[in-house]
Amino acid sequence: MTSLGTATAAPGEIDTGRLFVGETRDGTEVGLPVAVVNGADSGKTLYVQAASDGDELNGVGVIQRLVPQLDPDEIAGTILIVGIVNYHAFQVAEHRNPVDDTKMNRTYPGDERGTSSERIAAATFDAATRADLILDLHQGSTSRMIDECRVRCGPRHRLHEECLELAKVFGCGYILDQKGPDGQLARAGPDDGIPTIDPELGGCVGWDETSIEIGVQGVQNVLAYYGFTDETHVPDPQTRASGFEQYGAPAGGLVSFEKDLGDRVSRNDTLFEITDVFGQPKAEVTADSQGVFWRTRRLPQVATGEYVCSVGTDVDSY
Ligand SMILES: [Zn+2]
Repeated sequence: MTSLGTATAAPGEIDTGRLFVGETRDGTEVGLPVAVVNGADSGKTLYVQAASDGDELNGVGVIQRLVPQLDPDEIAGTILIVGIVNYHAFQVAEHRNPVDDTKMNRTYPGDERGTSSERIAAATFDAATRADLILDLHQGSTSRMIDECRVRCGPRHRLHEECLELAKVFGCGYILDQKGPDGQLARAGPDDGIPTIDPELGGCVGWDETSIEIGVQGVQNVLAYYGFTDETHVPDPQTRASGFEQYGAPAGGLVSFEKDLGDRVSRNDTLFEITDVFGQPKAEVTADSQGVFWRTRRLPQVATGEYVCSVGTDVDSY
């Protein structure tokens, strides 16, 4: 038998349940929705989680579509799933946990006696570290963004190659290979010896079918490549960026972009213009480096200094 919270599955079975992580303010128990897929044959263990940021719903869409496709009789190994990590933020469709106003993906590996977010991080990290591979499904929050996989351990980490391989197998098309901030699961997982990636499935708050489908295919690619299923998957070369340049607004007004997401950018190309409300040009911003047009703000209005867009730099094929 394999269990995660109250979900318990014998070989060849799938079960869903709850992983309890504390209580709400009225004393109601908080249980994260979890699933265990226990394959009929033995093999590796994969851990998948979604909605670590409570407004990033595409990962929940991936799990909702993926689980009905899985036949435990045809699987070798185990899949542990936490469908919604940031329970409190999900309830109110916000990014951060409103109980402690914290971003979950800065609290790993967590603390079982800590704040609300730290306790949830600790409980999910306990589940994640039972696995051989970790997928932490995200998206670009309120920004528009290409579909990409993030490798966050940094190029000098002993698991860098394994994390890069996992990102290539997932196969969004783009990889951001750049050391992330402390407290990310994609940092804490490799530090614990487990290859971990952070697939970023498109952008914007919402529910984007194209990015959800890319995520479902990504998990299926991982299941095939690492021997969970009988399918075969030969990874395609990915476009990798090792740097990430952010551009802000030099003036207030309305932004119009000169590039589309995924476009190649050359140094000195115009990225965007800012006009005033009467259509008069106020500023034009050009690229400092060559790269790939990676992410943009969603709404056009900006104040001076406000975030506008990002370019992935130091691009190669991996
Ligand atoms: Zn996120």
